[in-house]
Amino acid sequence: MPSNNLFEQAYDHKAFKEEAYKLVDLLADHLEKSTQEKYDKVLPCLDPEDQLKKWTIQPNETNNPLNFYEKVIDNSTRLQHPKYMGHQVSPTLPTAALAGLFSSLMNNGTGVYEMGPASNALEYKICDMTAKALGMGPESGGFLTSGGTLANLTALLTARAQMIPDAWEKGSPGRYAFLVSEQSHYCVDRAVRIMGWGSQGAIKVACNDRFQMDNEAMKKAYEEAEAKGIKVIGVVGSAPSTATGSYDDLPAIAAFCKEKKLWFHVDAAHGGAFIFSKKYKHILKGTEEADSVIMDFHKMLLVPALTTAVMYRDRRLAHSTFNQNASYLWAEDNSEEWENSAKVTFECTKLMMSVKVQAIIDKYGFDLWEEYLDKMMELTAYFNAQINELPDWETATEPESNIICYRWTGGENQDKNNKVNAAIRDALIRRGPFYVVMTSLKGNTYLRSTLMNPLSKKSDIDQLIKLMQELLGEFK
Ligand SMILES: *Cc1c(COP(=O)(O)O)cnc(C)c1O
Repeated sequence: MPSNNLFEQAYDHKAFKEEAYKLVDLLADHLEKSTQEKYDKVLPCLDPEDQLKKWTIQPNETNNPLNFYEKVIDNSTRLQHPKYMGHQVSPTLPTAALAGLFSSLMNNGTGVYEMGPASNALEYKICDMTAKALGMGPESGGFLTSGGTLANLTALLTARAQMIPDAWEKGSPGRYAFLVSEQSHYCVDRAVRIMGWGSQGAIKVACNDRFQMDNEAMKKAYEEAEAKGIKVIGVVGSAPSTATGSYDDLPAIAAFCKEKKLWFHVDAAHGGAFIFSKKYKHILKGTEEADSVIMDFHKMLLVPALTTAVMYRDRRLAHSTFNQNASYLWAEDNSEEWENSAKVTFECTKLMMSVKVQAIIDKYGFDLWEEYLDKMMELTAYFNAQINELPDWETATEPESNIICYRWTGGENQDKNNKVNAAIRDALIRRGPFYVVMTSLKGNTYLRSTLMNPLSKKSDIDQLIKLMQELLGEFK
């Protein structure tokens, strides 16, 4: 094929339309099979080495691009299946997925205003609206970034810039630390190590029996650090923690930070979404006192991954995080305009995330999110009640969010319990239809579910419990 012709064909709008219709048909078929449970399992369950053997990187010889996509579907996890009750990744709302296709073609990379005029403005407004909803005050706002992990790193770098102003120029070779709960997400510890503060940079504070950071232990850890010459510059609160979905006592942390003049960061990757539920927003109390907050839209707001907001009580502080010259991108290095978002984000080019968020609000307002959040909380409460009715079963703690950890406790010792619980989870995912995950708390193996599929019903919980009881008969 002569090359001119190749590119004309590749960008031909009619060919695009034809291909797109076929792909959307395939996706609609996948959506039907997922939501109607025509797939017998959530997870295809092929061992990693066998999965590798399935793939060769070469052109498709059949001339039908759908063959490739069909094969990917056959080997992928089905998040829209009502029996998907595993990790905290949302079963993307179809409307938002279409916005994903839209944004991939538009590809307005947003780092500088001219490369994403609309998406930059939308991003500003979305973060402004969310920060205000969280009660962070008149100067609050922020930006979107690629995931909670990067968002936490960015916010903690802002904290460092504010608390140790010459760190950007000179590094921060002193001994500094953040206080974090021992249940905080691993990315907080990773962020601090990236700053070069080593293993002592994230001081792990013990939790109470509900897996919340213990307030007295926090104060003690602070005193101990200071006595050792380690300067604590901030505290990270989890809202909630990943493993058990436990909320730290945010008002108490806020008061402590105020008293000691520390930076207060809230990792609300999972729970920030609940600000959009009138019934449950109270669980975020204390967040309004934070200096910085991060929140994943790709967890409890049904947006495709990755879409995360980083928000500050004073949005201008974001300009202190990275202090770099890039005259090829913007006219002035030291100005604080909102529209060149790469000045404040880790990324240079990034996805058009804001379009996916606004596509949902545009179509459903805030009602769909609210109904979804309330429903997931109710389903979790139901799950908790059902587990606690069974003899020899328990939950790790009363769920404070839509995350629940549960286990069988009827064995003669901890080792036996751990083995049986692991065997149950393995059989559940291999034989299907359910997908649940596993975690270890105080040496005990728990099955763990995040209820985040709006199509999951009480009858699915009933079926899961029945199946687990049957498997118990086999393994105990
Ligand atoms: C999920 C999660 C993260 C990590 O977010 P990603 O978007 O997966 O990078 C961080 N903190 C908490 C509390 C989380 O639940």
